[in-house]
Amino acid sequence: MFTKIVIANRGEIACRIIDTAARLGVATVAVHSDADANALHARRADEAVHIGPSAASESYLRGDRVIEAARRTGAQAIHPGYGFLSENPDFVEAVEAAGLAFVGPSAEAIRAMGRKDAAKALMEEAGVPIVPGYHAEEQDPAFLHRQADELGYPVMIKARSGGGGKGMRVVHDRDAFRSALDGAAREGLHAFGDSAVLIEKYIESPRHIEVQVFGDAHGNVVHLFERDCSLQRRHQKVIEEAPAPGMTAEVRRAMTEAAIRAAQAIGYRGAGTVEFIVDGSGELRADGFWFMEMNTRLQVEHPVTEAVTATDLVEWQLRIASGDPLPLAQSAISLTGHAFEARLYAEDPQKDFLPATGTVEHLSFGSARIDSGVARGEEISPFYDPMIAKLTTHGATREQARVALLRALAQTQVTGVTTNVSFLHALASHPDFAAGALDTGLIERDIERLLAIGSRVELPMAVAAIALCAPAAEQGAPSWRLWGRGSERVLLDGGGETIEVRIDRSDTQRTKVMLPGGALAFDRIAFDGDIVEVGERGHTRRLPSVVRATADGRHVSVLFEGSTYRYFCPDPLARLTRSASREDDVRAPMTGAVRAVLVGEGAEVSAGQDVLVLEAMKMEHTLRAPRDGRIAAIDCAEGAQVSDGAVLLRLEPLVADG
Ligand code: ADP
Repeated sequence: MFTKIVIANRGEIACRIIDTAARLGVATVAVHSDADANALHARRADEAVHIGPSAASESYLRGDRVIEAARRTGAQAIHPGYGFLSENPDFVEAVEAAGLAFVGPSAEAIRAMGRKDAAKALMEEAGVPIVPGYHAEEQDPAFLHRQADELGYPVMIKARSGGGGKGMRVVHDRDAFRSALDGAAREGLHAFGDSAVLIEKYIESPRHIEVQVFGDAHGNVVHLFERDCSLQRRHQKVIEEAPAPGMTAEVRRAMTEAAIRAAQAIGYRGAGTVEFIVDGSGELRADGFWFMEMNTRLQVEHPVTEAVTATDLVEWQLRIASGDPLPLAQSAISLTGHAFEARLYAEDPQKDFLPATGTVEHLSFGSARIDSGVARGEEISPFYDPMIAKLTTHGATREQARVALLRALAQTQVTGVTTNVSFLHALASHPDFAAGALDTGLIERDIERLLAIGSRVELPMAVAAIALCAPAAEQGAPSWRLWGRGSERVLLDGGGETIEVRIDRSDTQRTKVMLPGGALAFDRIAFDGDIVEVGERGHTRRLPSVVRATADGRHVSVLFEGSTYRYFCPDPLARLTRSASREDDVRAPMTGAVRAVLVGEGAEVSAGQDVLVLEAMKMEHTLRAPRDGRIAAIDCAEGAQVSDGAVLLRLEPLVADG
């Protein structure tokens, strides 16, 4: 075994690798960017080396600096985690040329699977079923269009160098083909430096089932059963589980054998995942699954496999990379119970899941396995993937694991940044999910219901008003009474809507809070640090609530039943000096880079029309015109870096001639 390794990653996966290394007595070296100088992974490793500015392209993607960090610290191996350099064969070659071990497969194996087109061709040869389609060199748009026509719609266009759900478009009819092709090619070029695509038949009601495989340097390959990752939004996994609901012994045998053939075809070493797209329109069938791709690294969702097989896959990776044979033979690997993993993200489901940034003010979890790379006080920056944590639960049955997941989600408390926790909770409560009736379209079909806000929004709203009214000096004071009598009026901005709240303290026994939807009466109000205690007829609740002052007013986040409710209390003076109405501007919803400006100055646009493409957190976001109008000014250039709230385009009313 190695005595010291470099972890070429950040966030939860870097922390997760540090944990196993520490248990095995292996010293760890973290690498970090400017933005991550105080990040958890950099603080938790035995040593930390600064490798560059915040942009990943200048730090976490700089293989030369990672190798230099290993040289400087005397490490023998580099663990790449997932993402960043993990599937970069040139990096693997450079690591090996520097006399270091790469914790992962050979450069040739990565190359063989790196491009989706070449991988499909190779798998076809190895006798692994593949999705029908076009996956050769020709990229002429008219030619690709004909291929799609012949295949029959719907089809899927995929950037051949793509990954992580990026650079993919589903096309339902031939008229939509060209713009989808442009989109996939553009995303492929920007994210992966390759605009070439492949086309395949779109499988309807698909399920995504993948098999975890492991190979060693001695030619052995085993599988560790399957994971079902069908719960996706825009091709990104949301909740994963193992085993797959409805899996039979016969289908499992066919699928795991195909996965092992795939790994053997490329002499695979280390952890890998063979992803299959599965016909989910009925029962699982041994002839109803097709190879999609092989991920030649550890997957984000590996904890569900660890839970059902009682293994530590990072330990396996380190052992295999140091030359040991596989820790267990196939016959010794067994599956026990059921596990789920939910991905907690800093994003706002109510705003089309836009990634959110901010400082984590409060962070606590209930009972579940938590893989987190973020600590209280840390900032979720716009530079990297906005995942906060993964929650994994395990139970004897699927239902037990699901109930444990629901409980863990309800106990999750994050303030300071908006998260998807209530969305995850709604998803885990969904009747089809509960019944194990999954397919990749479930979330999109039922998005309205999944985004419906909980029933008692009045309580967090009232607490927000109370927290905002409390003079700062009295937060922490034992009683609300210190404030004296009278009534107060607060204007709250809750997601664009202004709400008037009145707090009436004329009654010494009770404080009444009047809201648009009715009044609440509290017989007890007290502050305990960041926590507001409110009592209603002897029932006291403690709601963490954080007030933060900014130049334009004060923000308050209130945590209630696992969800964060955020309000804004504008400073009336700031509001008066603000010039044009927000409706006239298209603003950057987050910090990012302008990828494409789709309209010209003077152009007439209608409400909802696509006007600009912003890339942030490695995803493209299309911005739309807020109303009908004419483009009065374009305040940004393609390629420009823009910050959250910046005005990008300005609209003026359409004036009738004469
Ligand atoms: P990535 O490498 O970006 O993760 P994949 O090829 O693994 O891309 O596909 C991601 C997801 O897109 C799959 O899990 C599945 O939901 C969906 N998908 C991919 N190919 C198809 C297809 N041919 N038909 C239907 N859905 C597909």
